[in-house]
Amino acid sequence: MSSLKIEHLAKSFGTTEVLQDINLGIAEGEMVALLGPSGCGKSTTLRIVAGFETATSGRIELGGTDITATPAHRRNTGMVFQSYALFPHMSVADNVGFGLEMRKIGRSDREAKVRQALDMVQLGHLADRMPAQLSGGQQQRVALARALAVNPDLLLLDEPLSNLDAKLRGEVQHEIRALQQRLGLTTLIVTHDQEEALTMSDKMVVMQGGRIRQVGAPRELYDAPDSVFVASFVGNCN
Ligand code: ADP
Ligand code: MG
Repeated sequence: MSSLKIEHLAKSFGTTEVLQDINLGIAEGEMVALLGPSGCGKSTTLRIVAGFETATSGRIELGGTDITATPAHRRNTGMVFQSYALFPHMSVADNVGFGLEMRKIGRSDREAKVRQALDMVQLGHLADRMPAQLSGGQQQRVALARALAVNPDLLLLDEPLSNLDAKLRGEVQHEIRALQQRLGLTTLIVTHDQEEALTMSDKMVVMQGGRIRQVGAPRELYDAPDSVFVASFVGNCN
């Protein structure tokens, strides 16, 4: 696991500036929640960190190494998307092993890592199932196992719970947080759900219109928001 540092990150699509001067640090083993309304630039930030999108300007450091120009497949990040994005024609085990196969990890080593990753999310018994045979929560845990199987330096989660119903969301929320703390995973999670951010992070980053409005511990933002926007968004508006 590694620390992440984002400096003066900016992104434009054509003439539209969607990110402006994003500065953000995540310590090793820390979980940071990126929070803000739809369209404020959360996913774009994550995609740039993963290397799926190039920044217009700025710098990204992972574990002290400048990765700004490193292609996605050479950045050791694990990502979980909003929709499960499992391959429907592949078994659970093959889904989890996909990234390992891409990295040319040999069969027996791969099988061991797949088993270990599935055990982490308590789905070892479903290794031979197909994705369609699983519940939404189970599918999202498989996606998490797939991200963890490659032993990433950084875990990136883009609204991983938003397709789950409320009860399941709470369960998976606590599961992810417990796993993150147990394994000391450096994690950046995107959410538009205030409660989720409060429960799941060591530090919260509130974005609005492509800019960071405030960064702080959940309690700090809740008790001492420095703008009406943050107050209304984090939820303590009384
Ligand atoms: P969020 O995840 O916070 O909802 P996004 O990062 O997805 O927001 O999007 C931020 C802004 O960038 C939005 O206005 C969106 O329309 C725009 N955007 C995102 N991707 C593209 C793209 N490939 N081309 C043009 N505009 C984009
Ligand atoms: Mg998004």
